[in-house]
Amino acid sequence: MCFVAWDDWLRNQSDCRIKSKYFEIAAQVGVPIDSSAAVVRNPLGRDTCDHDGLSMTNRYKTVLLLGAPGAGKGTQGNILGTIPGFYHCSCGDVFRQIDISSELGKIFYEYSSRGELVPDDVTVKMWAQSIHAHTVLSEYKPHADLLILDGIPRTVEQAKLMEKHIEVLKIIHLYCNDEEAMFERLRRRALKANRLDDADEKVIRHRWDVYEAETRPVVDYYPKELLFEVNSLGSPAMILHDILDVVAPIQDQVFKNPLQD
Ligand code: ADP
Repeated sequence: MCFVAWDDWLRNQSDCRIKSKYFEIAAQVGVPIDSSAAVVRNPLGRDTCDHDGLSMTNRYKTVLLLGAPGAGKGTQGNILGTIPGFYHCSCGDVFRQIDISSELGKIFYEYSSRGELVPDDVTVKMWAQSIHAHTVLSEYKPHADLLILDGIPRTVEQAKLMEKHIEVLKIIHLYCNDEEAMFERLRRRALKANRLDDADEKVIRHRWDVYEAETRPVVDYYPKELLFEVNSLGSPAMILHDILDVVAPIQDQVFKNPLQD
């Protein structure tokens, strides 16, 4: 009953900021959300803020970082995110920010501790709410920043669900043909970053299998001409060099120089 009342209240709100804040908090505490309540209607009856998707012309301009666990998506994404005109969003980080005792937090813990992927619909909904909240707070400015997505989409179904949200301009595939080298990286990350899902050998190996079965097909889902392959076993600086070669011209062509008015 309580949720119905909240949804009604939300439906009557005309302020995007209030709606977004609600969604942010609801995602953190795991409150189920009726997404139809997220649409803000203006007096002329047109939707001005649709939480569930953007119009096709208004989708977030995006570069995807794809790669197995431990391939260095987070390392490269974090560096790119420090450059003006780039905004980095890691799906794993969004999940880790959720209160572990909330409904969504429990779902995340249940799947991630087994080395499995959180179900597609929950993941994409949570991600869409989170990124929208960051636009409302002006941390991510879709008209000025190239979005660097790391760790999502991780299945072909997620890629399909995300089509209404993102326009993919390039896919950086951090490939690795040496499983053992990747496992060694994950073991080291477990010690450094206190990541429980990296600490268990069986979980690490299962994550690799899940990657091969579920995420690798995402590479083939997108047009070949968008794909750029980078060997993830190179040094971080060389990998960054290769990635910048590709993404800097995109940022330059699609957006104006972020340091000029
Ligand atoms: P890694 O850096 O090893 O690739 P992440 O930090 O990206 O790991 O993700 C950690 C865990 O969070 C995953 O094993 C999975 O359980 C969950 N997760 C993250 N992103 C997604 C996603 N797009 N779809 C489903 N589950 C996800």
